[in-house]
Amino acid sequence: VAKEKVYKRILLKLSGEALTGQEAFGIDPRVLDHLALEIGQLVGIGVQIGLVVGGGNLFRGAALQTAGLDRVTGDHMGMLATVMNALALRDALERSNIATQVMSSIPMSGVVDHYDRRKAIRALSNGDVVIFSAGTGNPFFTTDSSACLRGIEVDADVVLKATKVDGVYDTDPMKNPEAIKFDQLTYDEVLDKKLEVMDLTAICLCRDHDMPVRVFDMAERGALLSIVRGGTEGTLIQ
Ligand code: UDP
Repeated sequence: VAKEKVYKRILLKLSGEALTGQEAFGIDPRVLDHLALEIGQLVGIGVQIGLVVGGGNLFRGAALQTAGLDRVTGDHMGMLATVMNALALRDALERSNIATQVMSSIPMSGVVDHYDRRKAIRALSNGDVVIFSAGTGNPFFTTDSSACLRGIEVDADVVLKATKVDGVYDTDPMKNPEAIKFDQLTYDEVLDKKLEVMDLTAICLCRDHDMPVRVFDMAERGALLSIVRGGTEGTLIQ
């Protein structure tokens, strides 16, 4: 395995659910510490890291709507949830001496900085981890879309989507033991086969702006470090 890094700047998307770990709800501090360790290894070899974290461990607009809430209100709650996750992540990263900035798409003066593309690029160039929170700032979008959007905006080399499975399969591998894993896919194959990788908005955005996406299993130890050095864990969509 090549020692030097292949990717100089990445956009890592973590789902909110990943933060729950062994807890029944919310945020497991052990997961945060583990993430800080893996991210620290990347920072150590000079990889610039933008992070987008979801909010599904706390609130999801669509689920709240099913429970009777107004959808837009629910989405606002979901976006606020991502800010809470971002604060928890920043705390864990900074305790590991990793300089971290949180930006929010929704202005939240006194808590986090408002998203500013030029400031984000400057911070990334400085080696700071930048966590982009509050999604796109708009209801009816997902944090997958905001990960792709911010990745394209800050000119990341790749969007790395961390999931619970080790790539994209033709059917759900949790339900079907015969499911076949893809090593590579084109954006159009994802769309044609209706593969549930990311929502269509996110896939179309990446397709239109030639942003490669790699889906991989964050729980696989060392996978993240291997990928930034050219490893082929998971599934590459490009
Ligand atoms: N959300 C939104 N606009 C965005 C991003 C997120 O309204 O641009 C809301 C939406 O309600 C979503 C919730 O925030 O359900 C949490 O985000 P997401 O479901 O993407 O989190 P994940 O599944 O990655 O944990």
